[in-house]
Order: sequence, then structure tokens, then C-alpha cells
Amino acid sequence: MEEPWSIGVDLGGTKLEVAHIDAQGRVRQRLRMPTNVKGGPSAIIEDVISSVWTLREAADSPPIGVGVGVAGQVEKETGKVTFAPNLDWRDVPLQADLQRSIGLPVIVTNDVRAATWGEWLHGAGRGCDDLLCMFVGTGVGGGVVSGGRMLAGCNNTAGEVGHITVDMNGPPCSCGNRGCLEALAGGWAITRLARETVAADPDGGRLLLGMAGGFIEEINVATIARAVRGGDPMARQLMDRAASALIAGASTLINAFNPCRLILGGGVITGVPELIGRIDNGVRGQALKAACASLVVLPAGLRTDAGVIGAAALAIRTFAVK
Ligand SMILES: [Zn+2]
Repeated sequence: MEEPWSIGVDLGGTKLEVAHIDAQGRVRQRLRMPTNVKGGPSAIIEDVISSVWTLREAADSPPIGVGVGVAGQVEKETGKVTFAPNLDWRDVPLQADLQRSIGLPVIVTNDVRAATWGEWLHGAGRGCDDLLCMFVGTGVGGGVVSGGRMLAGCNNTAGEVGHITVDMNGPPCSCGNRGCLEALAGGWAITRLARETVAADPDGGRLLLGMAGGFIEEINVATIARAVRGGDPMARQLMDRAASALIAGASTLINAFNPCRLILGGGVITGVPELIGRIDNGVRGQALKAACASLVVLPAGLRTDAGVIGAAALAIRTFAVK
């Protein structure tokens, strides 16, 4: 009998990736292109459809279904994308449109949720029924698996871990609140603070500024990560603040969900991998002893493939004949 396989789609604001994923969660073939945001929903949907056809024709058997992780809010029952600011979408019936055009079962979920599915089923969370994923990139997102179930919440928004408050009087966040975890530890926030700090103290910020070619607006997370490795005190201070926020946020979540594993991924974590050890130590000092008695803190296992692998795994889990 043919091995079951599925197609995973990772639809972000800059990049669209469509991949053939086997039942073990391995990428067999992938197509990657820039997201045609200017063309509107129909242009992007066309790109997904033609990519699915390409992968389907190259394979010996048809896929079981298609899973899509999209950077936006998704209605659970219908797979409608209600709001996706990076794509400039509102109320796009993505799941229904794709299903009609492709003639295969399609399931649409949020991109961070898809990455959590990936880590749970095929990455650092394999075999674990209680885990927490935190992805620290430009923003901070995550997912919670509790008692062997992915938590979705009442309106399918569970896992917005970037917007838990870690400092009631902290800096403003993109969500309208203050002192969210993301507003202190997200890539955009670290970058914002770094630029402000260098502007206020150009002498102390010499190394950071030099690494950015002399332009404050060129300072980014990669620059700061490099300066941390080079022993720069200002970069270290900036990263210390982000680490403290991540420890506070993770401790709150550990107290709330008592996970067996805390899985950390995203560009800020891969750029400064020592954050994993710091968060591991930090949460043991801040969260309740009982809540982290069996906790293991691990780096994410699938890196940037978590989205396509997770979306495809979700399709197999949803549509495969049991
Ligand atoms: Zn927020």
C-alpha cells in the first residue's frame, strides 16, 4: 500500500511555502515563493492551487489532504481567515475556496498553531501530552497542548502568549495594551529599544552602531545577537531585559498549564541560543516549585519547517481514515 502523505502550506506576509510531507513528518519536496500580497486573496489562492497541483502530479499517489497555516486569525469551524494584517485580508473564506478548487479536503489554521502542531507531532514535543511552545521572532506566539489536546479556546485564539502582561507599566504594544511579553521580548521591541538606547548614548552604542554600518535604523536582532557574542555591554543589557521578560512570561504560563515540556523557537532564540539555558534556570526560580518539578526546557526541533510540517500533519490527523 502507498504511504499516506499530505501537503503543508505556510502562508506568511512575505513568503509562501507549499510542501509534500510524508507521514513521518519529513519534507519530500517543497515550493517556495514570495507572497503576492499586492495581488489580493485571489492571486495568493491561485499560487497555492498551482503549487498543490505541481506536488500532486509529481507524486505516485494522491495526498490525503491539505493543511494550511496562515498568519492571521482563523474561524475554527469554517477555516475562514477573519483578519490577517500582514496579508491585508479580512473575511477570506480560504478553506472553502481551496477545497472547491483543489478537490481535496483542506484544513486552515493559524501559522503559529500549525508550528505547534509540528513540534508536538514531529519535533521536540513528540510523545508528550502536556507542552507549551513559545516562538520568539519578530512577534511572540505560541501554543498549548494540554491533556493530549491542542487548546483552541472559545474563539480559536488560545496561544496568544505574546500578549500576556509582564509589566503593567511597560512600553506600548501593537495590541493597544502596555508591557506585553512581545512589547519587551519580541524582535520588533528589542530592535526599537536598541535604536533608542544607541541614539541616547552613541558612545556606549559604538559597537552596535559599527556592526550596523553606522546607521541606527540598520540595527536589528541579528546585529544585537552578534554584539552579545562579541561581549558588548549595551547589547548584553538589551538581551538581559528580553530574557527577564521571557522568564516572567514563561513562568506565568508554566503556573497556568503545568507543562512537561517548554519548547522554545523563533529567530530571537536561534540568534541567541543561550537564552534557552537562562529561561530554563530563570523559570525554576520564579514559577511554583510543583509546577516545574518535571519540566524539561528544549529548543524547537523543526526550525523554519515547523509550519509546513505541522499544517500537513494536522491534515493527516484530521482526514486520514482511522
Ligand atoms: Zn500586546
